[in-house]
Amino acid sequence: MEHSNLFGCHHRTHAMKPIDLRSDTVTRPTPAMREAMARAEVGDDVFGEDPTVNRLQETTAALLGKEAALYVPSGTMANQLAVKSHTQAGDEVILEANSHVFNYESGGPAVLSAVQINPLPGVRGVFTAEQVEAAIRPTDHHFAQTRLVVIENTHNRAGGAIFPVEEMRRIRETADRRGLALHLDGARLWNASAATGLALRAWADLADSVSCCFSKGLGAPVGSCLAGTKAFIDRAHRFRKVFGGGMRQAGILAAAALYAVENHRARLADDHAHARLLAETISALPGALLDPAHVQTNILIVELGPEAPFDAKELVRRLKDSGVLCLDTAPRKIRLVTHLDVSREQVLDACERIRQVWK
Ligand SMILES: *Cc1c(COP(=O)(O)O)cnc(C)c1O
Repeated sequence: MEHSNLFGCHHRTHAMKPIDLRSDTVTRPTPAMREAMARAEVGDDVFGEDPTVNRLQETTAALLGKEAALYVPSGTMANQLAVKSHTQAGDEVILEANSHVFNYESGGPAVLSAVQINPLPGVRGVFTAEQVEAAIRPTDHHFAQTRLVVIENTHNRAGGAIFPVEEMRRIRETADRRGLALHLDGARLWNASAATGLALRAWADLADSVSCCFSKGLGAPVGSCLAGTKAFIDRAHRFRKVFGGGMRQAGILAAAALYAVENHRARLADDHAHARLLAETISALPGALLDPAHVQTNILIVELGPEAPFDAKELVRRLKDSGVLCLDTAPRKIRLVTHLDVSREQVLDACERIRQVWK
């Protein structure tokens, strides 16, 4: 049996090293990145004296076209600092119903900022200026005061969808006219830029504040930045201390982020090509509801129609047994993400294994 089953032999050879498509957060620092970390000049960043952290913050602010940036331990902290710094207790925040800030940050806006959320239904993460306009509360004292709009780009739960610059510009105009702040959750803004060829500033210029992650597709082990005006970042800096996010010789981590920004941005295009390969394979399988045209960056969300052989949990279990790791995000939805630690060969291998499991 073994001799006729090349795939089976291959599987056994690699049984100890699964192809991990669960998330782009699973990447490990490369040898060159570790070297940059080891060489990093450091100081006490709570005193503002870590030269590598300062360099990362300046680099990020410049890339995003903002006056200042603040290095923080996670994308969640960057977003929650933005909510905290833009709002007062009792304010309302408009965002998309499937957004990370609303779904995956443990109720942070309620806990940390005492604000309420007004979630808008989006189409693959995108909502319109008209929806924002209609959601703004009157100034009458009966109502929470609408203060902030949050846009997510690329959109995680919508499968890495890119927020169109044109619609964001219209939302910016509404925000200006109605006196609202606009925060961009740009955890994967790098991917939007790589996929479209547009500068990060195409979106960042339209936002008052921007968060971005170094620990996703860019492959750094830890960290995010929040960027905005100097006054806004000063305010966020105070809250970072309150949230317990003041770190000391953090330059050792910031060095990894700098290395990632300088060396891993161009290669995001590979992840997108790999995602398209997976999309073409998977969309041909019976009951796999996935439009390859919707795979714009590095995330695939596959809905399992009635013809699919298994539900999401069972499919994830069987794929794991065959050496491919992915996540079930709903009873009939799985998610696959391509990244720095998955080569083209592994993606082709994963395609073959997925075909086999689907039978
Ligand atoms: C990953 C992610 C974040 C931040 O996540 P952390 O795990 O806290 O770093 C924020 N927004 C989006 C859209 C994300 O995908």
